[in-house]
Amino acid sequence: MKFRDLGIHDSILKALEEKKYHTPTPIQEKAIPIVLNRKDLLGVAQTGTGKTAAFSIPIIQQILKFEKDLNSRPKLRALIVTPTRELAIQIDDNIKAYSKFTQLKHTVIFGGVKQGKQVKRLKDGIHILVATPGRLLDLQGQGFINFNDLKLFVLDEADRMLDMGFIHDIKRLLKLLPSKKQSLFFSATMPENIVQLSKSILSNPEKVEITPASSTAEKVDQEIYYTNRTTKRDMLLHILKDKLDDQVLLFSRTKHGADKIVRYLRKENIKAVAIHGNKSQNQRQAALKDFKKGKVKIMVATDIASRGIDIDKLKYVINYNIPNVPEDYVHRIGRTGRAGESGKAISICEPEENLNVNQIKKLIGDKIKSIDAHPFPQTEKPMTEKERKEFNKQKEIKKREMIALRRAQKQGKNQKSSKRKKSEDKANSSEKSQTKNKNRNKRKPSDQASDKNKNRNKQKSSDQAQKRNQKKRSNKPLFKHKDRSYLDLLD
Ligand code: AMP
Repeated sequence: MKFRDLGIHDSILKALEEKKYHTPTPIQEKAIPIVLNRKDLLGVAQTGTGKTAAFSIPIIQQILKFEKDLNSRPKLRALIVTPTRELAIQIDDNIKAYSKFTQLKHTVIFGGVKQGKQVKRLKDGIHILVATPGRLLDLQGQGFINFNDLKLFVLDEADRMLDMGFIHDIKRLLKLLPSKKQSLFFSATMPENIVQLSKSILSNPEKVEITPASSTAEKVDQEIYYTNRTTKRDMLLHILKDKLDDQVLLFSRTKHGADKIVRYLRKENIKAVAIHGNKSQNQRQAALKDFKKGKVKIMVATDIASRGIDIDKLKYVINYNIPNVPEDYVHRIGRTGRAGESGKAISICEPEENLNVNQIKKLIGDKIKSIDAHPFPQTEKPMTEKERKEFNKQKEIKKREMIALRRAQKQGKNQKSSKRKKSEDKANSSEKSQTKNKNRNKRKPSDQASDKNKNRNKQKSSDQAQKRNQKKRSNKPLFKHKDRSYLDLLD
């Protein structure tokens, strides 16, 4: 089958030719006619299957049909909501490519950056808006987005959306959208809560299921190296130096873990960058750009930050930690072997993760080949219940120590800077007092008395402020949400 056989508009066909898309992928073959027929769609598919084009192409085509006069001010006709900023940018890039030979206007909005430029694009008028939920509601609340003319709504990566805690935002959003519209709903997995959510959005949908959640990309070769916790880094280096000739997307369970791996790799003269939720949006985009351009060999990512990221011809994925949610393994290795390319997924497993591997095997079948001939074999056993209790106890102690240490360092810094400020103030005031003294001789004794009073009052209020601050500090709970990342330090 060819795209032309799906009844696609010439201007879109020309763009697809330019992208060198010769034949539609299975999801495109099935979904495009459904969307063009104006039916609601439930798509069970993960990224890498070509699902972005599966909804973008017919959306562009439908808008070309609605808009008789493309020269008048654009009305917002299609809204695509996706959980991460990277995905939003990626989808918008795709729309840009497919609508290149049309006059359609589109833009993308996401949080973590100033809103000015995004607002300007919205004010200029657009037909298609790609958005992450938070920024979308924010700008809608500020009156910059109007859904009155909306005809198409896409909820992308619904399962990840809920994992990331966006359910309330989605429910709020649904209330704002016109009830008469065509809705498309995509999710890689369909647990019960997602089924319920889809029912609340879709009416009489057609279902397209391409890659069931439990099946991994077919062309991905999967290997596992069993080792110990203490030899994991050596194992990683061994794999990287001896075996891998290309770029690697490496997964870490935690954000701090990701930073630690990057520091370690850089010490070994391996160019690496990290991408995770503690990085600013600009840092994340810069890291991704450098990686896509081939400037760095390794990008270390957490699950959430990397979900759906499309890296052209990525050959290797490494799981530095085995995910404890088996479906995450499927998503991770789906970063490679995309759109029919071959790829390799390598997992490094410490004893505590053996159980996770068994669960993954239950989900995907025994497709992971164990590589036993290597210098760092697993010799230790997983902890017993008693050992785990002790381990967790020590972890807790270490964690408290770390938090206390950080607080002390912070306080030390504050004290130092306030000392520095005081001495600077002193220097300034002695300079000032010298000039004042010169003038004072000319002043009356009553003025001098009032200066003294002023100084006394100043001192009193600064003492009071200091006391207030001390009280605030001592009332601060030991485990505030902000400190939770300290758990990660122990990995
Ligand atoms: P997606 O699942 O939308 O993230 O797409 C995965 C990758 O497949 C992206 O790099 C797309 O550019 C590519 N792709 C999508 N459709 C096609 C197609 N029909 N032919 C070749 N590549 C495609």
